Amino acid sequence: MGKISKKIRQLVADRAEHCCEYWLSQAKFSPDYFSIEHIIPSIKQGVDHPDNLAYSCLSCNNHKFTATFALDPLTGLAAPLYHLRQDNWNVHFRWSDDLAELVGISPSGRATIERLHLNRENVVNLRRLLIPIGKHPPY
Ligand SMILES: [Zn+2]
Repeated sequence: MGKISKKIRQLVADRAEHCCEYWLSQAKFSPDYFSIEHIIPSIKQGVDHPDNLAYSCLSCNNHKFTATFALDPLTGLAAPLYHLRQDNWNVHFRWSDDLAELVGISPSGRATIERLHLNRENVVNLRRLLIPIGKHPPY
C-alpha cells in the first residue's frame, strides 16, 4: 500500500466523490478512516493501477480482506464479489424502502453485503441519522 503515490490516492478519492464505493458512505460523515483498497488484492496479482483501486472505508476494506468471492446467503453458492469497475451498482444493490439498509438483488450483491457487513449496526444507525438531513443516500 505504501507504494501508491499521493497523486493516485487523491485521484481515487476524487473519482469516488469521497464516498466509500461499497456502501456510499461519505468520508466527511463517517467516523471510519478511509483507505485505498485493491479490488483484486495484491496477493492475487491485483495491480496498483487506478482501475484496480477503490476508495473504501476501512471497515469495508477489512471485511473484504483478500476475498474475491463469497457465499450468497440465499443460495449458499459462491458468487463473485461486486466488482466496482466492471459491474453496475444498480444491478446488484438497492436501498430498502426506509433507505437504512442495502438490499442485494443479485448473487454478487447479496454475497458482497454479507462478506463486507454492509448492513453492520453502526452504518445502519449512521444512515438513519443522515436520512432526515438529506445526506443519505449521497446521490
Ligand atoms: Zn465502506
